[in-house]
Amino acid sequence: MGRKCCVTGCRSGYDSQDKTSVFRLPRDKCQRLRWLSAIPRDNIPDKADTVVCEKHWPAEYEKLLSYGRYRPANPPSVFTCVPQSLTPTASSKPRSTKKALSNQRSFIFHFILKFQILSLMNVFMLV
Ligand SMILES: [Zn+2]
Repeated sequence: MGRKCCVTGCRSGYDSQDKTSVFRLPRDKCQRLRWLSAIPRDNIPDKADTVVCEKHWPAEYEKLLSYGRYRPANPPSVFTCVPQSLTPTASSKPRSTKKALSNQRSFIFHFILKFQILSLMNVFMLV
């Protein structure tokens, strides 16, 4: 398939060996908006080939038949690969080790950002 999941931090579809199922955004405008607002990401490309992989639903999610294919009845709700601070709902199960890892990662990110701002400021001071 080769279609990449639009959820930030999710690597589904990036590996051609990955067989995770993906779902397109609903055609219905209301449903589509519910999906888009459920995903913790800004500027989600609202395109026909924008997909969300099945990892973002609980194991036993409700399905409905649409255009001859089964698809989730509800918007995605599982974003364990995304930093907890970004998830709009607190319903996803806390994964302490993963959370610690992502916290560490964002700490490093902020450190690098701060460093870049400092070096930029230095450049301005020299001018
Ligand atoms: Zn995904």
